Amino acid sequence: MTEGANPFESLQSQIDEAATHLEVGDDVIERLKHPERVLETNLTVELDDGSLERFKAFRSQFNGDRGPYKGGIRYHPQVSRDEVKALSGWMVYKCATAGIPYGGGKGGIIIDPDEYSEAELERVTRAFATELRPMIGEDRDIPAPDVNTGQREMNWIKDTYETLENTTEPGVITGKNIASGGSEGRVEATGRSTVIAAREAFDHLDKDLEGATVAVQGYGNAGWIAAKLIDRMGATVVAVSDSSGGIYNGSGLDPVAAKDHKNETGSVVGYEESEEELTNDEVLTLDVDLLIPAALENAIDAGLAEDVRADVISEAANGPLTPEADAILEGKDVFVIPDILANAGGVTVSYFEWVQNRQRFYWTEQRVNEELEEIIVDAFEALVATLEEYDLENPRTAAYVVAIRRVADSFEEAGTFP
Ligand code: NAD
Repeated sequence: MTEGANPFESLQSQIDEAATHLEVGDDVIERLKHPERVLETNLTVELDDGSLERFKAFRSQFNGDRGPYKGGIRYHPQVSRDEVKALSGWMVYKCATAGIPYGGGKGGIIIDPDEYSEAELERVTRAFATELRPMIGEDRDIPAPDVNTGQREMNWIKDTYETLENTTEPGVITGKNIASGGSEGRVEATGRSTVIAAREAFDHLDKDLEGATVAVQGYGNAGWIAAKLIDRMGATVVAVSDSSGGIYNGSGLDPVAAKDHKNETGSVVGYEESEEELTNDEVLTLDVDLLIPAALENAIDAGLAEDVRADVISEAANGPLTPEADAILEGKDVFVIPDILANAGGVTVSYFEWVQNRQRFYWTEQRVNEELEEIIVDAFEALVATLEEYDLENPRTAAYVVAIRRVADSFEEAGTFP
């Protein structure tokens, strides 16, 4: 992971690059490069030993032109105001790329969750939910999980909100477990869209996915599901990694067994079928057909990009390439499926969850997966059509061209008020 590259500046440069291809005024583009508002709050929480600790937390509402703000909540020691702003902006363009009726938001708490008990994490989460209460709601802003948060945290936020508001409103948050109003298929959705997009890209490039070699960096929710599903499609997962390091087997790893090993020991490292241990950088620069970065931002910087040997990259993580790395990979003809399309499955099934919550009518997993497939395939087709129409080389630029056009259209239809 590269320190230093500012993700908010990366977002703004991606918008600037796409804007050069669009007839949208500079004044409108300027609006689309900055969040509408950012909450910065200090949570004071009692620890198990009775002492108090302060936690800094953020919620950025980037743009609501196309619908309520939507985006996850991250717990990580490196959460920062700029990171949250960038992630909230990516959500705007992700929802627009997928064509789902949301704006973008994101939240985070500066915390290493491994250092706290479950009871402490519950108090931290409920304290944050209390701060968020005036700005969230199923028609205002709908949080979801992100790194180091999941169903447990979503259920605490829903319960806090509903208790304080004296209502039942499961659509205030997505990523809940099924008993609390979650959707079938949500847990697998991000990994699923990452591999659907990869399959479409291989098809577009006339490459065979059957037998293709795959490396996956990051083995959490997004990464491990992507590994499992791409293996089922006939590809061979030769390397995976997590924050402790990577493992390699040229004949293919069993993604499920590697995950079991991680569940038992805390890491994929040490998994018995691994032939060789690799560093994270070695995993990212393996000579594979498909690379899936599924950890955090800035995994590949300019220096590492020179050594990347994959033909296709499907970005399960948000912002895994710095803009410099993106340019280098474009020069090397690597087909990069941008995060705002590849990992859009997460927010798409969150959208389905919200629709089901509002209708109080729940779908089968098969229906969820079929509707997801249609949305991701349509979004990929729109990207390819835009690449051709605008004579672009970089799929990310094409995705932003589609997305910015859609957001700008909504804004221009509504006009400014006051
Ligand atoms: P997670 O916490 O479940 O998993 C993160 C994984 O990354 C862990 O295995 C961790 O060990 C690993 N990791 C951390 N630092 C690493 C490093 N330097 N090298 C290698 N591995 C490292 O998180 P997640 O939900 O899978 O999210 C991963 C990425 O996907 C994030 O960028 C997130 O924003 C993005 N994303 C997730 C979802 C979702 O629905 N979960 C949706 C859209 C985007």
